[in-house]
Amino acid sequence: MNKYFSENYFQAREKFRKSTAKLKKSNYHIIDDLTIDVAESHPKKKEKLLIIISGTHGVEGYVGSAFQLFFIDKYLSKIKDKYGILLIHSLNPYGFKNNRRYNENNVDLNRNNNKDFSKINYFFNKNKLFKEENIFNIKRAFLSDNFERIRYNLLLYKLILKHGISKTIQLIGHGQNKYPKGLCYSGKNKEKSILFLDKKIKEITKDYKETILIDVHTGAAKKYNLDIFTANKLNEIKIDVPFKSTNTKKKGTDHIGGIENSLFENSKSKKNIHFTLEFGTINKYSTVISLNYLSYLLFKENQITNFGPFEKIPKIRQKMKKAYFPENKKFKENMLKKTKDFLERIINYQ
Ligand SMILES: [Zn+2]
Repeated sequence: MNKYFSENYFQAREKFRKSTAKLKKSNYHIIDDLTIDVAESHPKKKEKLLIIISGTHGVEGYVGSAFQLFFIDKYLSKIKDKYGILLIHSLNPYGFKNNRRYNENNVDLNRNNNKDFSKINYFFNKNKLFKEENIFNIKRAFLSDNFERIRYNLLLYKLILKHGISKTIQLIGHGQNKYPKGLCYSGKNKEKSILFLDKKIKEITKDYKETILIDVHTGAAKKYNLDIFTANKLNEIKIDVPFKSTNTKKKGTDHIGGIENSLFENSKSKKNIHFTLEFGTINKYSTVISLNYLSYLLFKENQITNFGPFEKIPKIRQKMKKAYFPENKKFKENMLKKTKDFLERIINYQ
């Protein structure tokens, strides 16, 4: 079981490169020696294409990489005559290597996929509550740790009381384009990783009738659970998967700038299906406690990274790794079990 999991980015990349030795491979440099690694295979008769992405949020790449290695080990040879396969390892290698969610420019890649950044009018940017309390304006928060934590919790629970849990999750994760050093920053232009992904999807999908894109994340589901989200409409998906639709455009809180835009805007396939997987890593009983823990950790990590005290960086990054990748047997076993269940539903779908 441990062979699928890695201690760090370089080890994960090495395992990925070795296990895909027989496939067509390429890599794309992002910064220094950090690369997005790509492996692909194409059957004679091209009908369906399966794309699996790991490490969009760098630190979540530990589990994402294990998901890909498990897929390669258990399913690749069985299905490669039927499916086209595109594996994208570590879309955000800087974040993976440094145990950060964001990339080398403090950009959240899962908010960066916008056609026109000048037209963005994030709900967050207009939200009064955020303006007043502004948890994203990191500079305000030079308070003692305890006081800061209490203030943060008050804000979070105020949001939950006002909007409910699921909308609060959306609000917090919704992204912002005002504070380059803040949380969930969308950037002002598409980042290298996203330009690469757009181009790759445009090229590779042109002969396929159908494309399924799976983007693997970890974090704010209940621990040991797997939440499956899709931007498709519920009735578009015939696959027997217990998913939650994020197609909430009517409510005005839909996911802006997400990875799925790369698929829907660039794919040449007639039919396109998107899944975001979220493996829960924190609290077994409560999504709220998980959300509270993770969002505060992200807030602190971002604050320390951008404003100091910089000597605290190694410690908080270790905390990040632990939070997004619980290195115990039970978590790993559960994660692989859920992965197996999910992949079999995808593969058996006609
Ligand atoms: Zn994520």
